[in-house]
Amino acid sequence: MKIGLAAVLALLIVGAGLVSWPWRVAATKTPRWNILLITLDTTRADRLGCYDSNHDTPAIDAFSRSSVRFDRCYAPAPLTLPSHCSLMTGLTPPRHGVHQNGPDRLDSEFQTLAEVLRENGYETAAVVGAFVLDRKFGLSAGFDHYDDQMPEETSSVRYAERRAHEVTDAALQWLKQPRNSPFFLWVHYFDAHAPYDSPQYDPAFATRRPYDAEIHYVDRQVGRLLAALPASDEAPTLVILTADHGEGLGQHGEDTHGLFSYDQTLRVPLLVRLPDGRHAGQSIDAPVALVDVMPSLLAWLDIETSAALDGLQLPLDAADAARTTDRAIYFENEFPTHTYGWSGQEGIVAGRHKLIRTPQFELYDLEQDPDERNNVFDPDSERSRRLLSRLEDVAATLAARSASTMSAATLEDEDVARLHALGYVGVTRTPRPDAVAEDLPNPKNMLDVYAQVQTATHCFEQRQFAAATNKLLQVIAADPGNKRALRLLAASALNEGIDRSGPIDAMLVAVQDPIRPSRDTFVLGKLGLALLAEQRGEEAVAIFRKLQRLDPSSAAACASLAEALRQVGNSAEAAQWKARSQKLARPCSVTEWAPAAESAPVVPPSN
Ligand SMILES: [Zn+2]
Repeated sequence: MKIGLAAVLALLIVGAGLVSWPWRVAATKTPRWNILLITLDTTRADRLGCYDSNHDTPAIDAFSRSSVRFDRCYAPAPLTLPSHCSLMTGLTPPRHGVHQNGPDRLDSEFQTLAEVLRENGYETAAVVGAFVLDRKFGLSAGFDHYDDQMPEETSSVRYAERRAHEVTDAALQWLKQPRNSPFFLWVHYFDAHAPYDSPQYDPAFATRRPYDAEIHYVDRQVGRLLAALPASDEAPTLVILTADHGEGLGQHGEDTHGLFSYDQTLRVPLLVRLPDGRHAGQSIDAPVALVDVMPSLLAWLDIETSAALDGLQLPLDAADAARTTDRAIYFENEFPTHTYGWSGQEGIVAGRHKLIRTPQFELYDLEQDPDERNNVFDPDSERSRRLLSRLEDVAATLAARSASTMSAATLEDEDVARLHALGYVGVTRTPRPDAVAEDLPNPKNMLDVYAQVQTATHCFEQRQFAAATNKLLQVIAADPGNKRALRLLAASALNEGIDRSGPIDAMLVAVQDPIRPSRDTFVLGKLGLALLAEQRGEEAVAIFRKLQRLDPSSAAACASLAEALRQVGNSAEAAQWKARSQKLARPCSVTEWAPAAESAPVVPPSN
């Protein structure tokens, strides 16, 4: 195996904070293996039979017996896009700059695995199962074929994803094409993401354990996909199966993912099947990370890269793993900040310990306390101080190397609405705040509010807008900066029969907050429309002016400002804004702002 000098040097430099073992050197002929990468969205390792014998996933379990199983693989964030970006670049989120789904996108300056493989003669293809990985978010770089076609569906909860059998069909279609080059195929299954509504193979089971039923359904599709691989003696294929993050399932009070950084959402399955059968059946209990996948593949394929990656080559046996004892794996979670206005987290996994930085530090001994129930952080203990200093070193190293600017994806209003439909209600075009801030609420202390927001979301989905509005006003009274509650309130307030005065007051307080005024274009748009509906034209003009300044390319903002100006009798300026709205490329009727109940966005319970 050869590896570029620059890469070795870069890794040794990163090693000051992140690494402990050098890249292995082996003198093998360059393999030309096919590569199949399978990512299972939202899939906890302990829901697969090969990780927990209480579960039964026959296809994946059979696959695991011919693979190396990594028992402690960590995602860099409990979020789909940041995690996949790390998998595909070998970089942590502070390096690649993608911290949230939606407005962040992977900048073209970062070299992806697909780009490297294509440069090395591979034919490359991806089939993804959800809009959150749409090509506009940057992961299509390097793929000859990037299938992100989602079915046209009427339900906005469902339309942004496609089912596993459709994903498999598309992948098989591509696989059977004749080719003279090795292939790299990435297949992404989104099904285990909420809402859990798998095809009813076994309705009783699906009702009793809906999340597990989704995984069983995906397991069958993984089996179909693996069975279609070319015979290994003709065209050997290296297969990697992993997940982007797990799911809370009620642990620590978290139903889905994104609220916390416990192992329930950060620890993911990782199975690697080498074509020559080496190390089959091995299990590795040393901590590894999704950022290790790209450098490992490149090393195994004997492909040089000059990029300074954060990941390391995965150890494939106990001797290799023994060299990892000093490693610190970085993770972060900014979802609470962007979605609720609460503090996020960052931290490290180092050996048996996990340190989480939130407004209050948390330290867990994962060997003794795998469920992370007993916080043993003690600022006076040598252990806590050592890990704290380690986290500071790692974070400083990454920050120094991180992209100086974040790339904002070109999000159309329609895309924002789609992301809302998936529950990514934190999506705005506002700049990234300091995600772990001591003056922001700690999500741990906000579980009552979180539960109330879930209840309100349920009411909203059932179109019980009055009940949702009442509940949301209570939430905002208790937690005035709650971004998700404010969005849901904005979406509820314009529906038929709702007393708008309470919601309008709450939204006005939020957008006029002297310290952290809401700059959420969705809330501003809905607030302006509510004011218009109440014949409060002067206030509507002020709100739409603010909105137009925040989002100058929005035709809807211009058109709405024109309407408000007409209401106050300023027809000359109204005509100017109307003309401007017509010049802008985007249509001026934006679904998410429309006052009709039918077009209010459906917001599912969580992300
Ligand atoms: Zn995901």
